[in-house]
Amino acid sequence: MVTVQRFIYPETLREALEALSAGRDKARAIAGGTSLVFHKGKSTEAFVDITRLGMNRIEQSDGQIELGACARLHDVAEAKLLGSPGLVALAEAASSAGSRGVRNAVTLGGSIAGYKRWSDPPIALMALDASIHVEGPNPRDVALSDLLEKHPASGLEPGELITTVLLDPPAARTGSAFVKLSRTAVDYALTSAAAQVVLDDAGRVADVSLALGAVRHLPTDATDLASELLDAEPTEALLDQVAERITDEIEPGQDMRVTTAYLARVAGVTARDALALALRRAGQEDANA
Ligand SMILES: Cc1cc2nc3c(=O)[nH]c(=O)nc-3n(C[C@H](O)[C@H](O)[C@H](O)COP(=O)(O)OP(=O)(O)OC[C@H]3O[C@@H](n4cnc5c(N)ncnc54)[C@H](O)[C@@H]3O)c2cc1C
Repeated sequence: MVTVQRFIYPETLREALEALSAGRDKARAIAGGTSLVFHKGKSTEAFVDITRLGMNRIEQSDGQIELGACARLHDVAEAKLLGSPGLVALAEAASSAGSRGVRNAVTLGGSIAGYKRWSDPPIALMALDASIHVEGPNPRDVALSDLLEKHPASGLEPGELITTVLLDPPAARTGSAFVKLSRTAVDYALTSAAAQVVLDDAGRVADVSLALGAVRHLPTDATDLASELLDAEPTEALLDQVAERITDEIEPGQDMRVTTAYLARVAGVTARDALALALRRAGQEDANA
C-alpha cells in the first residue's frame, strides 16, 4: 500500500533540505519522477519536489563546467558547452536515454541517485572523471566513480541531495564518445561504453579512460582493460586486442534478454567502437587546432 500523504514544493535549497531532514527517512526527494513506477512507497510519507530550486543551470564557472542536478537530459544533450570533442560523450549519453518524452523529464541528478543498470549518463560521466557536489548535514564533493562503486542509494545519507555535477574542461587533443547497443533506439542498453582519450604531440595515447554500462548491475571502470593503448600509437590491431581482453575478462551479470557470452562479446565491440570514435575526435581536434 502506498503511504504518501504529502507533496512538498520548496523554493530554496535550504527549504528542501529542511523538509527532507524533518521527514527523516519518511521523506524522499523527487526530481523527474520517472522512477516512481518502481517505488513501492511503503515507507514514504512525503515527496519533496526539488525541481524549483534553480538547480538546472549548465554553465562554466571558475574554469569548471557545472551542471545543475535538475538539468533535464534533453537540455544536457543540447548544451553547447558539451559540444567539444572531449566532452561530447555526455551529450551523446543524454540523447540516447529513452524517448524524447523521457529525456524531457529525467534529470541528471536523478539518473545518478536513482541509478539503474541501464542508466546512460552516469557511464559517460565516469569516463569524463566527473565529481558531484552533495548538500546536507555533511556537504562535500565526491568523485562519481567512488559513489558508483556501490549503488548511490548507499553512498548518500537520507536527507542529502546531489546539487551539482562538476567536469574539468578537457585539455587540447582530447576526444570522447558514448556508444550504446540496444534492441531499438528507445530501448534500455544491452551494453554501453564511454571513452575519453588524450593524444600527445606525436599522436600517441597520453591518457585514456573507459567505462562500461549495463553489462553488470553497477557501472564498470574498464580503464585498466584499455591500458595497452597508453603511450602507444593507436592502431586497429591494438583496438582489437583491447576488445578481446574486455570480452575475456568482463564477466557480465545475468540479463534475461541475452546470454552472458553474447553480452561479453558485445561489451568488447561497444568499448572498441567508443575508443575508436574518441581517438578519431581527438585526432580531428589536433587537425583543427
Ligand atoms: C520508459 C522509460 C525508459 C527509460 N529509458 C532510459 C534509458 O534508456 N537510459 C537512461 O539512462 N534512463 C532511462 N530512463 C530513466 C531512468 O530509468 C530513471 O527513471 C531516471 O534516471 C530517474 O531520474 P529522475 O530525474 O526521473 O529521478 P526520480 O525518479 O525523481 O528520482 C530517482 C531517485 O533519485 C533520488 N533523487 C533524484 N534526484 C536527486 C538528487 N538531486 N539528489 C539526491 N537524490 C535524488 C530520488 O529520491 C529517487 O530515489 C527511462 C525511464 C522510463 C520511464
